[in-house]
Amino acid sequence: MASPVWHPYAHLLTQTAAPKVIGGEGPRFTLEGGETLLDATCSWWCMIHGYGHPRLVAAIKEQADSLCHVMLGGLTHEPADRLARELVRVTPPGLEHVFFSDSGSVGMEVAMKMAVQYHYLQGKPEKYRMLSLMKAYHGDTSGCMAVCDPEEGMHSLFSGFLPRHHFAPTPSAAHDAAPNEVEADLAALRAVLEQHHGEIAALLMEPLLQAAGGLNMTSPHYLAGARALCDEFDVLLVFDEIATGFGRTGKLFAADHADVTPDIMVLSKGLTGGYLGHAATLATDRVHAAFIGDTPLHAFMHGPTFMGNPLACRVALESLAVFEEENYLEKIDGLNRVLREELLEDASLRQHPQVSDARVLGATAVIEVADTGALKGVADFARKQGVWLRPFGRWLYTMPAYITPQEDMARIARVMKAWFK
Ligand SMILES: *Cc1c(COP(=O)(O)O)cnc(C)c1O
Repeated sequence: MASPVWHPYAHLLTQTAAPKVIGGEGPRFTLEGGETLLDATCSWWCMIHGYGHPRLVAAIKEQADSLCHVMLGGLTHEPADRLARELVRVTPPGLEHVFFSDSGSVGMEVAMKMAVQYHYLQGKPEKYRMLSLMKAYHGDTSGCMAVCDPEEGMHSLFSGFLPRHHFAPTPSAAHDAAPNEVEADLAALRAVLEQHHGEIAALLMEPLLQAAGGLNMTSPHYLAGARALCDEFDVLLVFDEIATGFGRTGKLFAADHADVTPDIMVLSKGLTGGYLGHAATLATDRVHAAFIGDTPLHAFMHGPTFMGNPLACRVALESLAVFEEENYLEKIDGLNRVLREELLEDASLRQHPQVSDARVLGATAVIEVADTGALKGVADFARKQGVWLRPFGRWLYTMPAYITPQEDMARIARVMKAWFK
Protein backbone atom coordinates (compact mmCIF):
# COMPACT_ATOMS: atom_id res chain seq x y z
CA MET A 1 0.00 0.00 0.00
CA ALA A 2 1.18 3.49 -0.80
CA SER A 3 2.29 5.48 2.24
CA PRO A 4 -0.19 8.03 3.62
CA VAL A 5 2.68 10.52 3.98
CA TRP A 6 1.99 13.56 1.78
CA HIS A 7 5.35 14.84 0.61
CA PRO A 8 6.21 18.54 0.24
CA TYR A 9 6.43 20.20 -3.17
CA ALA A 10 5.59 16.85 -4.80
CA HIS A 11 3.47 16.37 -7.88
CA LEU A 12 1.26 13.47 -6.83
CA LEU A 13 0.76 12.06 -10.31
CA THR A 14 4.39 11.96 -11.36
CA GLN A 15 6.21 11.51 -8.03
CA THR A 16 8.27 8.37 -7.62
CA ALA A 17 8.41 6.45 -4.33
CA ALA A 18 10.60 8.29 -1.84
CA PRO A 19 13.66 6.30 -0.75
CA LYS A 20 13.55 5.41 2.95
CA VAL A 21 16.41 6.77 5.04
CA ILE A 22 17.38 4.64 8.03
CA GLY A 23 20.36 6.54 9.37
CA GLY A 24 23.39 8.55 8.52
CA GLU A 25 26.92 9.45 9.48
CA GLY A 26 28.81 12.60 8.58
CA PRO A 27 27.90 13.91 5.12
CA ARG A 28 26.16 10.65 4.10
CA PHE A 29 22.81 9.07 4.83
CA THR A 30 21.92 5.43 4.42
CA LEU A 31 18.86 3.97 2.74
CA GLU A 32 16.95 0.83 3.57
CA GLY A 33 18.80 -1.84 1.61
CA GLY A 34 22.21 -0.38 2.33
CA GLU A 35 22.71 2.27 -0.37
CA THR A 36 24.70 5.21 1.00
CA LEU A 37 24.39 8.70 -0.50
CA LEU A 38 26.57 11.77 -0.13
CA ASP A 39 24.13 14.58 0.68
CA ALA A 40 24.99 17.64 -1.46
CA THR A 41 22.33 19.84 0.12
CA CYS A 42 22.38 18.66 3.78
CA SER A 43 18.62 18.32 4.17
CA TRP A 44 17.53 21.79 3.02
CA TRP A 45 20.83 23.25 4.26
CA CYS A 46 20.25 22.69 7.96
CA MET A 47 22.37 19.59 8.80
CA ILE A 48 25.56 21.63 8.93
CA HIS A 49 27.40 19.07 11.11
CA GLY A 50 26.19 16.15 9.02
CA TYR A 51 24.28 13.15 10.31
CA GLY A 52 24.72 11.38 13.65
CA HIS A 53 27.12 13.92 15.16
CA PRO A 54 28.07 12.36 18.52
CA ARG A 55 28.16 15.65 20.48
CA LEU A 56 24.79 16.83 19.19
CA VAL A 57 23.15 13.47 19.80
CA ALA A 58 24.60 13.35 23.33
CA ALA A 59 23.37 16.89 24.08
CA ILE A 60 19.80 15.94 23.20
CA LYS A 61 19.96 12.74 25.28
CA GLU A 62 21.39 14.58 28.26
CA GLN A 63 18.75 17.30 28.08
CA ALA A 64 15.98 14.72 27.66
CA ASP A 65 16.98 13.24 31.00
CA SER A 66 16.34 16.51 32.84
CA LEU A 67 13.66 18.50 30.96
CA CYS A 68 12.10 17.86 27.55
CA HIS A 69 9.69 20.74 27.48
CA VAL A 70 8.15 23.54 29.46
CA MET A 71 6.40 26.62 28.10
CA LEU A 72 8.06 30.02 28.08
CA GLY A 73 4.78 31.67 29.09
CA GLY A 74 5.65 33.02 32.52
CA LEU A 75 8.47 30.48 32.99
CA THR A 76 12.05 30.15 31.89
CA HIS A 77 14.85 27.56 31.91
CA GLU A 78 18.60 27.41 31.62
CA PRO A 79 18.94 26.28 27.96
CA ALA A 80 16.73 29.16 26.71
CA ASP A 81 18.53 31.75 28.84
CA ARG A 82 21.95 30.49 27.80
CA LEU A 83 21.10 30.23 24.12
CA ALA A 84 19.66 33.76 24.06
CA ARG A 85 22.89 35.05 25.62
CA GLU A 86 25.01 33.13 23.14
CA LEU A 87 23.03 34.41 20.16
CA VAL A 88 23.41 37.98 21.41
CA ARG A 89 27.16 37.35 21.72
CA VAL A 90 27.71 35.96 18.22
CA THR A 91 25.29 38.09 16.14
CA PRO A 92 26.13 41.64 14.96
CA PRO A 93 26.50 44.19 17.77
CA GLY A 94 23.24 45.82 18.84
CA LEU A 95 20.99 42.77 18.57
CA GLU A 96 20.18 42.27 22.25
CA HIS A 97 16.79 40.56 22.54
CA VAL A 98 15.74 37.10 21.40
CA PHE A 99 12.26 35.81 20.63
CA PHE A 100 12.17 32.04 20.06
CA SER A 101 9.79 30.14 17.80
CA ASP A 102 9.64 26.72 16.21
CA SER A 103 10.41 27.19 12.50
CA GLY A 104 11.90 29.63 10.03
CA SER A 105 8.55 30.71 8.62
CA VAL A 106 7.19 31.44 12.08
CA GLY A 107 10.39 33.32 12.94
CA MET A 108 9.71 35.55 9.92
CA GLU A 109 6.06 36.01 10.90
CA VAL A 110 7.31 37.16 14.30
CA ALA A 111 9.70 39.62 12.62
CA MET A 112 6.93 41.11 10.48
CA LYS A 113 4.49 41.42 13.37
CA MET A 114 7.21 43.02 15.49
CA ALA A 115 7.93 45.58 12.75
CA VAL A 116 4.26 46.51 12.31
CA GLN A 117 3.66 46.78 16.04
CA TYR A 118 6.86 48.80 16.48
CA HIS A 119 5.55 51.49 14.14
CA TYR A 120 2.08 51.31 15.68
CA LEU A 121 3.57 51.97 19.10
CA GLN A 122 5.63 54.83 17.63
CA GLY A 123 2.38 56.47 16.55
CA LYS A 124 2.62 55.40 12.90
CA PRO A 125 -0.14 52.78 12.49
CA GLU A 126 -0.23 53.48 8.73
CA LYS A 127 3.18 51.78 8.32
CA TYR A 128 1.96 48.21 8.06
CA ARG A 129 3.18 46.96 4.69
CA MET A 130 6.42 45.16 3.93
CA LEU A 131 8.98 45.90 1.24
CA SER A 132 10.51 42.73 -0.14
CA LEU A 133 12.74 41.89 -3.11
CA MET A 134 11.98 40.01 -6.28
CA LYS A 135 13.44 36.46 -6.11
CA ALA A 136 12.86 36.51 -2.33
CA TYR A 137 11.80 33.42 -0.43
CA HIS A 138 10.79 33.90 3.22
CA GLY A 139 8.71 30.80 4.01
CA ASP A 140 5.47 28.97 3.27
CA THR A 141 3.00 30.35 5.84
CA SER A 142 0.49 32.95 4.62
CA GLY A 143 2.32 36.00 5.91
CA CYS A 144 5.58 34.71 4.45
CA MET A 145 4.07 33.71 1.09
CA ALA A 146 2.95 37.32 0.68
CA VAL A 147 6.57 38.52 0.77
CA CYS A 148 7.99 35.85 -1.57
CA ASP A 149 8.62 36.75 -5.21
CA PRO A 150 5.04 37.11 -6.51
CA GLU A 151 5.90 36.11 -10.09
CA GLU A 152 8.62 33.49 -10.21
CA GLY A 153 8.02 32.33 -6.62
CA MET A 154 6.10 29.16 -5.88
CA HIS A 155 3.01 30.80 -4.40
CA SER A 156 1.51 32.76 -7.31
CA LEU A 157 -1.73 30.76 -7.26
CA PHE A 158 -2.47 32.16 -3.81
CA SER A 159 -2.17 35.78 -4.89
CA GLY A 160 -5.89 36.48 -4.32
CA PHE A 161 -5.64 35.16 -0.77
CA LEU A 162 -2.56 37.15 0.24
CA PRO A 163 -2.15 40.73 1.45
CA ARG A 164 -0.39 43.14 -0.91
CA HIS A 165 3.11 44.33 -0.18
CA HIS A 166 5.73 46.25 -2.12
CA PHE A 167 8.61 44.74 -4.09
CA ALA A 168 11.89 46.17 -5.31
CA PRO A 169 13.92 44.61 -8.13
CA THR A 170 16.30 41.84 -7.16
CA PRO A 171 19.85 43.16 -6.75
CA SER A 172 21.88 42.43 -9.87
CA ALA A 173 25.38 43.43 -8.75
CA ALA A 174 27.63 40.41 -8.20
CA HIS A 175 29.10 39.51 -4.81
CA ASP A 176 32.47 41.06 -5.66
CA ALA A 177 31.01 44.20 -7.26
CA ALA A 178 32.68 47.56 -6.63
CA PRO A 179 30.67 50.15 -4.66
CA ASN A 180 29.70 52.04 -7.83
CA GLU A 181 28.35 48.83 -9.36
CA VAL A 182 25.58 48.57 -6.76
CA GLU A 183 24.35 52.11 -7.40
CA ALA A 184 21.66 51.05 -9.86
CA ASP A 185 20.32 48.42 -7.42
CA LEU A 186 20.21 50.95 -4.59
CA ALA A 187 18.58 53.57 -6.82
CA ALA A 188 15.81 51.06 -7.59
CA LEU A 189 15.35 50.41 -3.87
CA ARG A 190 15.31 54.14 -3.15
CA ALA A 191 12.66 54.72 -5.81
CA VAL A 192 10.22 52.33 -4.09
CA LEU A 193 10.98 53.80 -0.67
CA GLU A 194 10.54 57.37 -1.86
CA GLN A 195 7.12 56.55 -3.22
CA HIS A 196 5.80 54.24 -0.49
CA HIS A 197 7.80 54.71 2.75
CA GLY A 198 4.77 56.23 4.45
CA GLU A 199 3.17 52.79 4.56
CA ILE A 200 6.25 50.57 4.80
CA ALA A 201 7.12 49.04 8.17
CA ALA A 202 10.16 47.02 7.14
CA LEU A 203 12.48 46.08 4.31
CA LEU A 204 13.01 42.32 4.31
CA MET A 205 15.92 40.59 2.67
CA GLU A 206 17.95 37.42 2.58
CA PRO A 207 21.30 39.20 2.81
CA LEU A 208 23.87 38.33 0.10
CA LEU A 209 22.19 35.09 -0.96
CA GLN A 210 18.56 34.76 -2.02
CA ALA A 211 18.37 31.04 -1.53
CA ALA A 212 15.15 29.25 -2.53
CA GLY A 213 14.26 32.03 -4.98
CA GLY A 214 17.13 31.05 -7.28
CA LEU A 215 20.44 31.37 -5.43
CA ASN A 216 20.94 34.96 -6.49
CA MET A 217 24.11 36.38 -4.91
CA THR A 218 24.87 40.02 -4.31
CA SER A 219 27.34 42.46 -2.79
CA PRO A 220 27.92 43.54 0.82
CA HIS A 221 27.75 47.13 -0.49
CA TYR A 222 24.08 46.51 -1.21
CA LEU A 223 23.50 45.64 2.46
CA ALA A 224 25.27 48.77 3.63
CA GLY A 225 23.28 50.90 1.17
CA ALA A 226 20.01 49.30 2.25
CA ARG A 227 20.87 50.05 5.90
CA ALA A 228 21.35 53.75 5.09
CA LEU A 229 18.10 53.91 3.09
CA CYS A 230 16.13 52.29 5.92
CA ASP A 231 17.46 54.88 8.38
CA GLU A 232 16.61 57.70 5.98
CA PHE A 233 13.01 56.53 5.48
CA ASP A 234 12.23 55.26 9.01
CA VAL A 235 11.85 51.69 7.81
CA LEU A 236 13.12 48.75 9.87
CA LEU A 237 15.69 46.48 8.22
CA VAL A 238 14.96 42.78 8.66
CA PHE A 239 17.62 40.23 7.68
CA ASP A 240 16.24 36.78 7.03
CA GLU A 241 19.41 34.81 7.80
CA ILE A 242 17.56 31.51 8.00
CA ALA A 243 19.61 30.16 5.09
CA THR A 244 22.68 32.42 5.27
CA GLY A 245 23.20 32.27 9.04
CA PHE A 246 25.80 30.01 10.68
CA GLY A 247 28.49 30.16 8.05
CA ARG A 248 26.79 29.51 4.73
CA THR A 249 28.23 32.63 3.04
CA GLY A 250 31.71 32.21 4.51
CA LYS A 251 31.26 34.34 7.63
CA LEU A 252 29.16 33.44 10.65
CA PHE A 253 26.39 35.73 9.35
CA ALA A 254 25.96 37.42 5.99
CA ALA A 255 25.59 40.72 7.86
CA ASP A 256 29.22 40.32 8.98
CA HIS A 257 30.46 40.81 5.39
CA ALA A 258 29.13 44.38 5.50
CA ASP A 259 29.43 45.17 9.23
CA VAL A 260 25.74 45.98 9.16
CA THR A 261 23.36 45.44 12.08
CA PRO A 262 19.76 44.94 10.98
CA ASP A 263 16.98 46.02 13.33
CA ILE A 264 15.63 42.48 13.34
CA MET A 265 17.36 39.26 12.33
CA VAL A 266 15.85 35.80 11.91
CA LEU A 267 17.76 32.54 12.36
CA SER A 268 16.64 28.95 11.93
CA LYS A 269 17.90 26.07 9.68
CA GLY A 270 21.53 25.82 10.97
CA LEU A 271 20.57 27.09 14.44
CA THR A 272 20.19 23.61 15.93
CA GLY A 273 22.54 22.01 13.43
CA GLY A 274 19.29 20.73 11.92
CA TYR A 275 18.69 18.31 14.80
CA LEU A 276 15.41 19.92 15.95
CA GLY A 277 13.11 22.53 14.47
CA HIS A 278 13.66 25.95 16.01
CA ALA A 279 14.07 29.63 15.19
CA ALA A 280 15.14 32.86 16.82
CA THR A 281 14.07 36.40 15.97
CA LEU A 282 16.56 38.91 17.36
CA ALA A 283 15.85 42.60 17.87
CA THR A 284 17.83 45.69 18.79
CA ASP A 285 17.27 47.77 21.91
CA ARG A 286 15.53 50.39 19.78
CA VAL A 287 12.88 47.91 18.59
CA HIS A 288 12.51 46.31 22.00
CA ALA A 289 12.21 49.66 23.79
CA ALA A 290 9.13 50.58 21.75
CA PHE A 291 7.29 47.69 23.43
CA ILE A 292 7.94 49.00 26.94
CA GLY A 293 4.76 50.85 27.90
CA ASP A 294 1.63 50.79 30.00
CA THR A 295 -1.17 50.05 27.52
CA PRO A 296 -2.44 46.54 26.73
CA LEU A 297 -1.29 47.10 23.13
CA HIS A 298 2.33 47.19 24.26
CA ALA A 299 2.47 43.42 24.81
CA PHE A 300 3.77 41.38 21.87
CA MET A 301 0.92 38.98 21.19
CA HIS A 302 2.73 35.94 19.89
CA GLY A 303 3.70 32.72 21.64
CA PRO A 304 4.24 29.44 19.81
CA THR A 305 3.65 26.47 22.11
CA PHE A 306 7.12 25.10 21.50
CA MET A 307 9.08 28.36 21.62
CA GLY A 308 12.35 27.91 23.46
CA ASN A 309 11.95 24.15 23.66
CA PRO A 310 14.74 22.95 25.99
CA LEU A 311 15.88 20.10 23.71
CA ALA A 312 16.15 22.49 20.77
CA CYS A 313 17.96 25.16 22.81
CA ARG A 314 20.37 22.63 24.28
CA VAL A 315 21.31 21.17 20.89
CA ALA A 316 21.64 24.70 19.44
CA LEU A 317 24.14 25.54 22.19
CA GLU A 318 26.11 22.39 21.39
CA SER A 319 25.98 23.16 17.66
CA LEU A 320 27.41 26.62 18.21
CA ALA A 321 30.11 25.27 20.54
CA VAL A 322 31.22 22.70 17.96
CA PHE A 323 31.14 25.37 15.23
CA GLU A 324 33.50 27.60 17.19
CA GLU A 325 35.74 25.00 18.81
CA GLU A 326 36.34 23.16 15.56
CA ASN A 327 36.84 26.35 13.57
CA TYR A 328 34.12 25.75 11.01
CA LEU A 329 34.81 29.00 9.17
CA GLU A 330 38.13 27.47 8.11
CA LYS A 331 36.35 24.31 6.91
CA ILE A 332 33.89 26.46 4.94
CA ASP A 333 36.79 28.34 3.39
CA GLY A 334 38.27 25.02 2.28
CA LEU A 335 34.98 23.93 0.70
CA ASN A 336 34.76 27.32 -1.02
CA ARG A 337 38.21 26.84 -2.58
CA VAL A 338 37.21 23.43 -3.95
CA LEU A 339 33.94 24.77 -5.37
CA ARG A 340 35.67 27.69 -7.07
CA GLU A 341 38.33 25.51 -8.56
CA GLU A 342 35.90 22.89 -9.84
CA LEU A 343 33.06 25.12 -11.04
CA LEU A 344 34.44 28.57 -11.80
CA GLU A 345 37.86 27.80 -13.20
CA ASP A 346 36.50 25.30 -15.68
CA ALA A 347 35.81 27.29 -18.84
CA SER A 348 34.12 24.36 -20.60
CA LEU A 349 31.28 24.38 -18.05
CA ARG A 350 30.47 28.04 -18.61
CA GLN A 351 30.66 27.61 -22.35
CA HIS A 352 28.14 24.78 -22.35
CA PRO A 353 25.11 25.93 -24.37
CA GLN A 354 22.64 25.03 -21.58
CA VAL A 355 24.58 26.71 -18.77
CA SER A 356 23.74 30.37 -18.25
CA ASP A 357 25.81 31.00 -15.12
CA ALA A 358 27.86 29.40 -12.34
CA ARG A 359 28.21 31.11 -8.97
CA VAL A 360 29.96 30.32 -5.69
CA LEU A 361 29.66 32.00 -2.28
CA GLY A 362 30.95 30.43 0.93
CA ALA A 363 29.76 26.82 1.05
CA THR A 364 27.20 27.37 -1.70
CA ALA A 365 27.54 26.76 -5.42
CA VAL A 366 25.02 26.81 -8.23
CA ILE A 367 24.96 26.04 -11.91
CA GLU A 368 22.07 27.93 -13.49
CA VAL A 369 20.62 26.66 -16.75
CA ALA A 370 18.59 28.54 -19.32
CA ASP A 371 15.76 26.01 -19.37
CA THR A 372 14.40 23.76 -16.57
CA GLY A 373 14.30 20.84 -19.03
CA ALA A 374 18.10 20.81 -19.00
CA LEU A 375 18.04 19.41 -15.43
CA LYS A 376 15.54 16.62 -16.03
CA GLY A 377 17.10 13.35 -14.89
CA VAL A 378 20.08 14.89 -13.11
CA ALA A 379 19.01 13.59 -9.67
CA ASP A 380 18.97 9.97 -10.92
CA PHE A 381 22.24 10.55 -12.73
CA ALA A 382 23.85 11.76 -9.48
CA ARG A 383 22.36 8.98 -7.37
CA LYS A 384 23.98 6.36 -9.60
CA GLN A 385 27.26 7.98 -8.60
CA GLY A 386 26.44 7.99 -4.91
CA VAL A 387 25.46 11.66 -4.63
CA TRP A 388 22.10 13.04 -3.51
CA LEU A 389 21.31 16.20 -5.47
CA ARG A 390 17.92 17.90 -5.45
CA PRO A 391 17.78 20.65 -8.05
CA PHE A 392 14.81 23.01 -8.29
CA GLY A 393 13.69 25.16 -11.21
CA ARG A 394 16.71 26.21 -13.24
CA TRP A 395 19.19 25.65 -10.43
CA LEU A 396 21.52 22.73 -9.85
CA TYR A 397 23.22 23.55 -6.58
CA THR A 398 25.08 22.29 -3.56
CA MET A 399 24.94 23.57 0.02
CA PRO A 400 26.77 20.75 1.82
CA ALA A 401 27.37 20.01 5.49
CA TYR A 402 30.49 21.86 6.60
CA ILE A 403 32.13 18.65 7.79
CA THR A 404 32.11 17.35 4.20
CA PRO A 405 35.71 16.30 3.41
CA GLN A 406 37.27 18.22 0.52
CA GLU A 407 37.47 15.03 -1.60
CA ASP A 408 33.72 14.59 -1.19
CA MET A 409 33.12 18.25 -2.01
CA ALA A 410 35.11 17.80 -5.23
CA ARG A 411 33.12 14.67 -5.95
CA ILE A 412 29.82 16.56 -5.66
CA ALA A 413 31.09 19.37 -7.92
CA ARG A 414 32.37 16.86 -10.48
CA VAL A 415 29.03 15.05 -10.61
CA MET A 416 27.30 18.41 -11.15
CA LYS A 417 29.71 19.20 -13.99
CA ALA A 418 29.59 15.74 -15.51
CA TRP A 419 25.88 16.18 -16.20
CA PHE A 420 26.82 18.80 -18.78
CA LYS A 421 29.51 16.75 -20.47
C1 LIG B 1 13.90 27.79 4.74
C2 LIG B 1 13.72 29.26 4.76
C3 LIG B 1 12.60 29.84 5.38
C4 LIG B 1 11.49 29.01 6.00
O1 LIG B 1 11.91 28.24 7.07
P1 LIG B 1 11.02 26.96 7.52
O2 LIG B 1 11.73 26.45 8.73
O3 LIG B 1 11.05 26.00 6.37
O4 LIG B 1 9.67 27.46 7.81
C5 LIG B 1 12.51 31.21 5.39
N1 LIG B 1 13.47 31.99 4.84
C6 LIG B 1 14.56 31.47 4.26
C7 LIG B 1 15.59 32.38 3.70
C8 LIG B 1 14.71 30.09 4.17
O5 LIG B 1 15.76 29.57 3.55
